Amino acid sequence: MKKDDFRRMAQDANYIPGIYNYCDRWCERCAFTDRCMTFAMELEEDERQGGPPKNADEFWRRFESSLAMTQEMVMDMAKEQGIEFEAHELTELGRQQNQRHEEVKNHPLARAAFAYDQLVDDWFRTGQADLRAKEEEILAQAQLGVERVKEEVIGITDVVEIIRWYQPQIYVKLMRALDADKAFEARSEQPKDSDGSAKVTLIGMDRSIAAWLRMKEFFPDKTDSILTMLVHLDRLRRATEREFPVARRFVRPGFDTAS
Ligand code: SF4
Repeated sequence: MKKDDFRRMAQDANYIPGIYNYCDRWCERCAFTDRCMTFAMELEEDERQGGPPKNADEFWRRFESSLAMTQEMVMDMAKEQGIEFEAHELTELGRQQNQRHEEVKNHPLARAAFAYDQLVDDWFRTGQADLRAKEEEILAQAQLGVERVKEEVIGITDVVEIIRWYQPQIYVKLMRALDADKAFEARSEQPKDSDGSAKVTLIGMDRSIAAWLRMKEFFPDKTDSILTMLVHLDRLRRATEREFPVARRFVRPGFDTAS
């Protein structure tokens, strides 16, 4: 996408400014695709390139080019406002950011969120055979014409999709919340970006907890391992609420404002 296309879209009042900053990136399930500029840009790019990225290489190539354009635009905007960056200032900013990022990785919340990600992977790896057995059981029931089978298949698929979607995102969004420039946020009058990110991760935890509770109904013999997961996630959620006490009240553009 070219800078001019970006500017043209940015002037379209139909798009909700910044909605994509505090979403869960699950566009397939998002009610705001027609009001989201990021979604429209990706769609336009897919059309221009003859479809969505076919593999990881192509995805990263497109991602890098979009990042380069964003960077260029940020520099343009800074220049328009008379702000000039010296090369050594940018290097120093990058160094500080990297240092903060490394420190944040060791924050107890970040470590707990990372551990959750690993726990989920382990659960699915060790439970693969059980999931397959359940699938076969459901298929056999379907052949016998047992009612509500379809509903059950949809239920399990949904639960797995929810857990898998938020599994890495809880860590990523929590890292973003922890990684924020606290000094800058304290000086600013604006709502804190860290609270917005923390809210997104909290919602991901809420939905994951609800999904694990449903999973327990499908796999009662796995109650113990699921309870371990629930306890871990619930502790992480409460600790996140303590670290970001007003995050739940953060108003996300679109999701919390559109009627
Ligand atoms: S706001 Fe909705 S459509 Fe836009 S990026 Fe987020 S999930 Fe996708």
